Amino acid sequence: MTAVSAVDTSSTTSYHDPGAISEGFVYRDQSKRYPWWVKSVDRITVETNASEIQKPTINMIMMSLMRRGQNPDQPRQRDGLVNKISNGTPGFSLPDVSLEFASQTFFQSGVNVDGGLISGFRKIREVISDQVHTPQELGVPPWRGTEEEASSMIEKAAVHLGAAQVGFTAMDLTWLGPNVRISSDVEKPTTSREGIFFPPAYKYVIVVAGRVPMWAAKCAPGALGSAADRAGYEEAHMAEEKLMNFIRGIGYGAFDIHMMGINPIPFAVMAGLGEMGRMNRVVSPFFGGAVRFALILTDLPLALDKPIDFGLHEFCRHCRKCARACPVNAISFETDPSWEPLGPYSFKGKKVWFEDCEKCAAYTSSAGTYCSACLAACTWNKQNKTALHGLMRSLGAKLPAFSRFYALMDDLFGYGLIPEEKRKTWWEKDLPVKGVSESSKD
Ligand code: SF4
Ligand code: SF4
Repeated sequence: MTAVSAVDTSSTTSYHDPGAISEGFVYRDQSKRYPWWVKSVDRITVETNASEIQKPTINMIMMSLMRRGQNPDQPRQRDGLVNKISNGTPGFSLPDVSLEFASQTFFQSGVNVDGGLISGFRKIREVISDQVHTPQELGVPPWRGTEEEASSMIEKAAVHLGAAQVGFTAMDLTWLGPNVRISSDVEKPTTSREGIFFPPAYKYVIVVAGRVPMWAAKCAPGALGSAADRAGYEEAHMAEEKLMNFIRGIGYGAFDIHMMGINPIPFAVMAGLGEMGRMNRVVSPFFGGAVRFALILTDLPLALDKPIDFGLHEFCRHCRKCARACPVNAISFETDPSWEPLGPYSFKGKKVWFEDCEKCAAYTSSAGTYCSACLAACTWNKQNKTALHGLMRSLGAKLPAFSRFYALMDDLFGYGLIPEEKRKTWWEKDLPVKGVSESSKD
């Protein structure tokens, strides 16, 4: 497979092979990263068509979600919530809803109940970034080492600071809107009315993964399920903020580009944190769909990771558990993925199981909470590392055609979503710390 130049300095961009690893970078040894049944590969497992690929003008899904609060034609999230609390809908008790808000205390500060932006987040960030003391302030030289040493150090620091996993990849404008450019006129990543500008030295992306607490996630769709979804983002972003401070503390720049509106999914796939599943979201070989991502752009030279292949494509062809879990049929039941986008928020040039984002966003608006039932239902969601799950994972990767059987077994052994009427019992459970267990059935 041909390697490609990832940092495209042209503003209009003629496309290289989208999804292939990049030339001009060092790659770290991938052999110890995953168990034997996860292969490291030189291009992502999604087929792409360079001449067709369509760039999102903005992060459309994020913007559609944010617009919910301001669009009079869309149901207000607040109304959906209030109705459900008042009607005693299972999974929407006042404590359930309050837990959802509390789960995103940090990550969503600055976003109101209807999804509209209010001030706040930037102020918090200014305060916490004061916590770090740069080498310049201390009067010592910045850290120096090889790319491999840098990646190893960042991985250790990230896990210490709360990340479930990290991956390293190159900044690649292929996945971003035409308003995102590389520019020598800026010293740090900058957002203005004209667009988003990255200096050429900022070509390394760190993808930070946060785990979703499965006991609550299994209560999706509903406020408890949403509390789990939000807690996953909170974990990723808390670890990310601390890791950015660490990077500044060794003398390099670090910026959160997820909060600039950049979609983490292609970067997570390029960094080998998962493959694209039927639900058109990332599925991790370790955490299934129970993982959320944050993105750091840095000028610290890093050794990159490669994409992975654990047989998910074939597995998803037969499994369909996420599609069955979707309350509005937004996920494809077709056996094979397609080149045809579905609705205005999906983009041409890749062969995936497109989901109907409009249906998904409308459901979220009317429900009053984030849904994430597809992610919570995924057959690959197993937080514990018992031998049995290790065996099933390796069989799933190597004999993916049996996925229908695995999905059935998953349901039989009670790994699916918790039915609505039983969700009250969540408050009676003896929960592991942060709801994430290494040993119990989840
Ligand atoms: S998050 Fe969207 S696509 Fe997934 S199950 Fe819910 S409504 Fe369906
Ligand atoms: S639930 Fe099954 S079909 Fe859906 S993404 Fe997970 S493995 Fe693939």
